Amino acid sequence: MSRSLQYIRPFDPWRQGSLCTCPFKYTVNPYTGCAHGCLYCYASSYIRDFFNPRPKKDFLRAAARDLSRIPPGSIINISSSSDPYQPLEAEMRLTRALLEMIPESYVIEIVTKSDLVTRDADLLSRRASVVSLTVTTMDESLAARLEPRAPKPSRRVSAMEALSRAGIPVVLRLDPLVPGLNDDPESIRAVVREAARAGARHVVTSVYKVKPDNVARVLSAFPDLEARFRKLYWEEGERIHGYLYASREYRARALKEVLRAARDYGLTFATCREGLLPPDPGVSCDGTHLAARAATRAASSARTAASRASS
Ligand code: SF4
Repeated sequence: MSRSLQYIRPFDPWRQGSLCTCPFKYTVNPYTGCAHGCLYCYASSYIRDFFNPRPKKDFLRAAARDLSRIPPGSIINISSSSDPYQPLEAEMRLTRALLEMIPESYVIEIVTKSDLVTRDADLLSRRASVVSLTVTTMDESLAARLEPRAPKPSRRVSAMEALSRAGIPVVLRLDPLVPGLNDDPESIRAVVREAARAGARHVVTSVYKVKPDNVARVLSAFPDLEARFRKLYWEEGERIHGYLYASREYRARALKEVLRAARDYGLTFATCREGLLPPDPGVSCDGTHLAARAATRAASSARTAASRASS
């Protein structure tokens, strides 16, 4: 099998000198491309024919080979550049097969917008795992324009509730905040409030970054944003690792709104690739600290149950 079929790789979004504060981890995408069609998607700028998703060639065999080279205890992210629970997964079940294949000595971090993830609660609840659900707005009509083929926000929140009930730690990804669309304090508070009610314990957030193809989609759907974007991005923003960031002043203001809401609703807080506000003490930006703690708790209840049974 050729090295080109290496599917589980170190997560290294920007190589050296990045603003990424994630712990060292691996990442794997069972699918190339994604059907959800989010206007702001970053992955479409570097993956050909992105919105026409397809399974990775010989995925399970190559992933098994990769896994044999990864030290137990490592964190494995599924996935960073496509949704592992997009519609194809309902028929192909590659994500589920991958979860079945990865021994319980590894930590799993799922990132998704889909409530299909609840199908795999049986697998996720018996191992160190954390599920990040992205919710950018509770406004269903805005979500339908911004993330046209992803499940509605209310379904994602219901998924948070079901996973939390199953003992699986849940993270809210309020990401991205798009200036003029979902960045007003009321919108932010509504998302954090609903996620907190559904059992989310941590929020990670960032402000939308411009790439040529994603900004073309956003401005074609929301042409009224053009003047605002010109000022925030092209006049006052900064270019970092090939992305155009909004002005620091705007980003700090928007991120602080999320921080305020997190404080009010009892979630820990971190930002993603912003370099502006520090994460809360003891938390990992991606929420993987929760997976490790949940696994410790599960192991200790299993020990207690075993010792009760034997006494
Ligand atoms: S769900 Fe994620 S990978 Fe899929 S289109 Fe949306 S932003 Fe891109």
